[in-house]
Amino acid sequence: MKPIVLITRKVPEIARALLQEAFELIEWMEEEEPAPRSFLEKWIGEVDGLYCLLTDKIDESLIARSNRLKVISTMAVGFNHIDVAAASKRGILVTHTPEVLTETTADLAFALILATARRLVEASVFLREGQWKTWSPMLMTGQEVYGATLGIIGMGRIGEAVARRASGFDMKILYHNRNQKPEAEMRLGMAYAGLEELLQASDFVVVLAPYTQETADMIRKEQLQLMKPSAILINVARGGIVNETDLYDALQKGTIWAAGLDVFDTEPVPLDHPLLTLTNVVTLPHIGSASIQTRMQMALIAAQNLMKGLAGERPNFVVNPTAWSDVNTGQGKE
Ligand code: NAP
Repeated sequence: MKPIVLITRKVPEIARALLQEAFELIEWMEEEEPAPRSFLEKWIGEVDGLYCLLTDKIDESLIARSNRLKVISTMAVGFNHIDVAAASKRGILVTHTPEVLTETTADLAFALILATARRLVEASVFLREGQWKTWSPMLMTGQEVYGATLGIIGMGRIGEAVARRASGFDMKILYHNRNQKPEAEMRLGMAYAGLEELLQASDFVVVLAPYTQETADMIRKEQLQLMKPSAILINVARGGIVNETDLYDALQKGTIWAAGLDVFDTEPVPLDHPLLTLTNVVTLPHIGSASIQTRMQMALIAAQNLMKGLAGERPNFVVNPTAWSDVNTGQGKE
């Protein structure tokens, strides 16, 4: 009998075909609507594998309902929507899709740097609203990108890809991580900085750290106050790392100059959110990795992770390797 897999959304056909061949599928077939909690609760106890997205909250209480689940495969690199500790406790592997989305997400981070600095969205609206009367010396003037100082918080895979792009713009690059990366410093010509120093010195601050207990609310009023009034904050990582109330105040009062946001505390961001009233904010609907090629690849890798894990092979991208060794030594199951 084939293993049973629960899929929480209509996924690209290229991945679905693979899954259908290997597994018996239980599917939520909507493309635009996440599976309701009741659907997940109904089926989680019946399946060997779960193929999920970042819109699914795979928390302890859901995981506790599973009794034969072996692999949770998410079609994302960030896995803060999954209670990894609860999965590990039960010897359930958690897998994700890093690497394949690195360059695409870095492109979007850089697009936000350019869009905010040069006021692209605001200028386009200005034109379409018929406000463009003449060329004038200071019309829609923004901030210089070329030669500016870029501070990256979270110098991992995507952080490095943004730094590579920045060197083409002759930017001075600072980064902040918990661990210093001497080899990457040499390779990318960048310097390590404490968080305070980075915030004070940077013209652009790009957040690319994962959402964790440590990074939750990492950028709030006191951090924003350290930034230059001409500085721009870009968040392509996760909502919740930047405090949105404090960010709104900082943008409205001119504490900082602009912000570019691909992610929000609540997604979709409510249309009456105060940040959406500001012209110096560029807002996007969490499309960091959204190129056709990359999303296809992510869907495929998430399928392959599941196929390997359920075949007893180690998947390529395991979030909780200790659960893998526990499974293989017969430990970790409750
Ligand atoms: P990664 O390679 O794991 O890099 C994350 C970096 O953050 C690491 O270098 C890590 O270094 C650093 N970090 C972790 N905790 C930190 C802390 N408390 N303070 C400062 N730095 C910290 O991950 P990635 O592939 O680059 O992805 C980064 C994040 O981007 C993902 O977790 C995901 O949430 C987000 N993302 C968003 C989109 C989108 O669509 N908007 C797409 C892809 C990814 P240390 O361990 O040394 O601190």
